[in-house]
Amino acid sequence: MEERNLKISIAHLYPKLLNLYGDMGNIITLCKRCEWRGIQVEYDEINTGCSIEEHDLYFIGGGQDKQQLDVAEELYKHKAFLHEERDKGAVFLGICGGYQLFGHYYQPFDNDKLLGISLIDAYTVAGKKRFIGNVTVETDFLSPKTLVGFENHSGLTYVQGDTKPLGKIIVGCGNNGQDMSEGGRYKNVFGTYLHGSLLPKNPHFADYLIELALEKRYGKKINLAKLDDTLELRTHNSLVGKAY
Ligand code: GLN
Repeated sequence: MEERNLKISIAHLYPKLLNLYGDMGNIITLCKRCEWRGIQVEYDEINTGCSIEEHDLYFIGGGQDKQQLDVAEELYKHKAFLHEERDKGAVFLGICGGYQLFGHYYQPFDNDKLLGISLIDAYTVAGKKRFIGNVTVETDFLSPKTLVGFENHSGLTYVQGDTKPLGKIIVGCGNNGQDMSEGGRYKNVFGTYLHGSLLPKNPHFADYLIELALEKRYGKKINLAKLDDTLELRTHNSLVGKAY
């Protein structure tokens, strides 16, 4: 299928509340990598009080506990719809606080438990230590295998059941600083602690998500034309294994 006639729709969930450490860069990367290939993008911001219509890809960024509280109540209203979307193959990417809300709950230190929407089988509890720093993750589904980014969270996330980690921690703390896991995936739902923003320096993961979103929309695998990622991958490789 000619890329020029292709389209994907992206819903950005609560960007006015959850958008830390350049998370908007993920949206810009997805849109640009489609635009450079002539793939049309329909981009919608979903803010408090908005209804959520069907999209191919849903993105939610990170935030402080207070903003997560506001978003959690709002997001929970759409739980059943978002489960239907997940089960139809829609792609989800959640960063840090957004990732935590993809699970069953987030238990902050000094607040009541925030109910998540259980898109993935995971839960998060507040930790005593804040994990801040560069992260390198080794995956088994990307080429190159690595993901690089920056983490800043006190939440400790535990994935279980059919939800598997995105990968193994090479540098950094990841989900909880104990089991060497980072992120979580179930079906096409991806959560990660990697801010930075994540996708500009992980172009292979951006394209992986775009191909999944195209497959959900058109019902078949569509391989994207290669882009010249010399600069992006030079940046990526310069960060692999770097702690500081
Ligand atoms: N408030 C959550 C935590 O500290 C998420 C932080 C974030 O999104 N960077 O774990």
